[in-house]
Amino acid sequence: MTLDLVLRHGRIVTETRIFEGAVGVRDGKIAVIGADSDVPEGRQEVDVAGRHLLPGCIDVHVHFREPGMTHKEDFGTGTAAAAAGGVTTVFDMPNTVPPTDSAERLREKQTLAEEKALVDFGLYGLLGEHNLAELPAMAEAGMIGTKLFLGNTTGDNPCPSDGAVLEGFEILARLGLRCSIHAENSPILFWRQNRMKAAGRTDPLAHLAARTDVVAIEALNRAATLADWTGARIHIVHESCAGSVPFIRFWKDRGCDITVETLPQYLYLDAETFAAPGGHLLRMNPPIRQKSQQEPLWAALKEGVIDFVATDHAPHAPEEKEGDTVWDMACGFPGVQTSLALMLEGVSAGRLTLPEVVRIMTGAPARSFGLADRKGAIAVGLDADLVVVDMEATETLSAAALFSRGKVSPWEGHRVRGLPVMTFLRGGLVAENGRIVDDTPRGRMLRPEMPKPAPRNLATTMEAVLEPGNVPWED
Ligand SMILES: [Zn+2]
Repeated sequence: MTLDLVLRHGRIVTETRIFEGAVGVRDGKIAVIGADSDVPEGRQEVDVAGRHLLPGCIDVHVHFREPGMTHKEDFGTGTAAAAAGGVTTVFDMPNTVPPTDSAERLREKQTLAEEKALVDFGLYGLLGEHNLAELPAMAEAGMIGTKLFLGNTTGDNPCPSDGAVLEGFEILARLGLRCSIHAENSPILFWRQNRMKAAGRTDPLAHLAARTDVVAIEALNRAATLADWTGARIHIVHESCAGSVPFIRFWKDRGCDITVETLPQYLYLDAETFAAPGGHLLRMNPPIRQKSQQEPLWAALKEGVIDFVATDHAPHAPEEKEGDTVWDMACGFPGVQTSLALMLEGVSAGRLTLPEVVRIMTGAPARSFGLADRKGAIAVGLDADLVVVDMEATETLSAAALFSRGKVSPWEGHRVRGLPVMTFLRGGLVAENGRIVDDTPRGRMLRPEMPKPAPRNLATTMEAVLEPGNVPWED
């Protein structure tokens, strides 16, 4: 067997163990894993002695802003940031201009991405009130899942009514695809925001007060109720709230197919930083909350109640992050380049183990979105998406080092120990020591391979009850 590439003397990390050995790659896939003496010489040999080998990270939540807002980011800058950070798969959100709300727009975005992407990508389709009939065609076109905005955020996509959400879930349950949900209650947050604006509150913490915990908790439970009824698969994005954890546990125990992500900023940053000078940069949705919420989120992540970490990489032009009042400042900031380093910092600090990092950055997101047959582990037959990690390397994070166009970062000056030092996409070295070493756009679009759909309560779906003479209890 002739191998294209062999990474030797590595500490290979899986979700269950760490062992010494070599990984051999052929035709972009992992062809052999074993003791160094058992793996034949490759055409290219890389000695990674003293370093760890992890599967490439999967970030299911990025906003690369193309088309329509490329002054903030595009697929070239966004995927360079991903590669430099050890992320080899990203899922792009549909709140672009125009939004990704039809099969045609999905294909247009695929073309744009393929021209520039340095890492593999999935594309979300928007779940809106206006495009329910388009969902099967978007599934056919290969969308990775849908995105539902229950809470208002960047792009101001109108939040669908609960009626439309229920019908959308009925359709998605039959398709088997997962719906990622921005779970905030829009009527409540707008009511509170408008009342505070009228009362003259303009300070950063007013943003947190408008979107207090129950705004997230209510929306999570509403979404899960409808998912549980229809059999739709859902994913709660950017879980910020310790108060959600018991409810997530409840819905999982009940058999609802729900996965949940949190973000490094909710684990490390808190509202006190938000109120400090320069802290206004932290404005995002849902807001960064009190410090007391961090420990329960870490614990839920470690236990697997919160399934994994994503970033909500949401860059803006630096001037858009400024404003006279908090209400004028753009929400979100970059994250895809720093997320693995921040989780490795969690290992250095004794909060997580490296196998847990593999689970929460690669294995769990791959399983949630139907990629586990190709991604998310170091295993024979899977794509050779590999990250070499140096657990002794240190760095002071800075906005200037970001490949993103949104050179604004709440991590400025944050010291981390443990860094990705080489990133391979399907066996090709893309990034090394924070630099892009091959800018050939080899990123491909990934289609999900989900388990068989499991729709429920079919007798009373919208489609069924529109039938004349339908008897709503006969399946
Ligand atoms: Zn987002």
